[in-house]
Amino acid sequence: MKRAVVLGSILVGLLGLLAIPARAAGPEGMRLYVFTSGSVGGFPKSALQIGAQGTIEWAPIGFFVIKHPKGTIMFDTGNNDKTITDPDGWWGPLAKGFGLKMTQNDAMDAQLAKISMKTDDIKYVVLGHMHLDHAGNMSKFPNATFVIQNDELKAAWWPDPGYAIYYIPGDFAESKKYNIIRLNGDVDLFGDKSVEIIRAPGHTPGSQFAVVRLPKTGTVILTSDVVYLKENLDKNLIPPIPGTWSPMAMYESYQKIRLVRDAEGAQIFYAHDPEVFKATKQAPEFYE
Ligand SMILES: [Zn+2]
Repeated sequence: MKRAVVLGSILVGLLGLLAIPARAAGPEGMRLYVFTSGSVGGFPKSALQIGAQGTIEWAPIGFFVIKHPKGTIMFDTGNNDKTITDPDGWWGPLAKGFGLKMTQNDAMDAQLAKISMKTDDIKYVVLGHMHLDHAGNMSKFPNATFVIQNDELKAAWWPDPGYAIYYIPGDFAESKKYNIIRLNGDVDLFGDKSVEIIRAPGHTPGSQFAVVRLPKTGTVILTSDVVYLKENLDKNLIPPIPGTWSPMAMYESYQKIRLVRDAEGAQIFYAHDPEVFKATKQAPEFYE
């Protein structure tokens, strides 16, 4: 009898060890939409990856909308709408240098109209970082709550020597008036693990990525520029200055993304990877 009890408890113990915790999944009705804010292209690949050969012919400027019963999130905001009519005036020499292309169809209102939304429908704006192709349209959301690393706000407003070029003060000129959750770490935005924002410095002092756990699709990672290209992550290659603020931190942040990818079998949506973007459903299509 005793033996049976002992065996039984061993069995229970083993089952406990084997039990895989249920993966957190977002609530029904959750959706992820993928957009590009115009495009860039015709620039050396070495701008995105040290030592690379060749040219990036075309690359997206990815940004994303996450619908959730507790509120709609925008992750990154693309290029400032002013670059539609005045690319050189707003981006300076970077407009030609990166081959920036924006049309009226890329304006924020036109983008959101594809999914029958308006800027006022966005409750949270999460910025992966505040470079010109990610914070460009933050002024379109004066009533939203922003989620930004405190270090990134400081880096944008008062950049370190050599790291000012990708920050355009006009993009965030009004941001001191905004409601901003100033993070010093990670946050589980709705408390249900469906959208987690993870601090990942390296590209900039206050970069962060999003882990989105969808009910049917599973886990998706939105990298912003924590990683530029899939190849960068696969081969552990980083960008040159000013695309890398801290090499050591960048490698650590790559590793953070790999851990989530491998633990949860996550898909990764990059902001600027041409091939991955082309294989991705784009708004108005969606992931659920
Ligand atoms: Zn970028």
